[in-house]
Amino acid sequence: MADDADAHGVGEAAGSRTTAALRWLLAALRQLAERLAAPLRAGDGPNKFRLSSVETHTTTIDGDTGWEYRPPATLRCPDCTAGILQADSRGAIDCPECRLDLPAERFGDLELLGLTCPVCRASMQHGQRHPEDFDIPEWATCPNCQYHWEFKHSY
Ligand SMILES: [Zn+2]
Ligand SMILES: [Zn+2]
Repeated sequence: MADDADAHGVGEAAGSRTTAALRWLLAALRQLAERLAAPLRAGDGPNKFRLSSVETHTTTIDGDTGWEYRPPATLRCPDCTAGILQADSRGAIDCPECRLDLPAERFGDLELLGLTCPVCRASMQHGQRHPEDFDIPEWATCPNCQYHWEFKHSY
């Protein structure tokens, strides 16, 4: 029985040590939580972060670079002179009138009638930076919403 009592006593002492350590840990955690919450409470005023994220959003939707992001183009059909809308720069040039079907690579051979703004559908201004090297548009700007596209050749 004496052995049992000793074992009990040791167990109790270990138990109270654990409780003390837990209490200390909880107090420390509570202090840490209060310290972390303080700056958040101080920032309850005007939300500067939200304002700046709106500005970032406006600048990122404002333009694209690269031929694969070229705005939808309207080309003149070399056979029947109808306007052919090529929405995707990698898509076939497919005449809706005479069913002439040209691969996307023939773009430079056809007369470009115009580019359409992918954001607001307005007719875009476009031009070339190296007319002697390219017979395709190298930039386009929407006069309505300021969307800008730029072709950057990679070779
Ligand atoms: Zn045609
Ligand atoms: Zn536009």
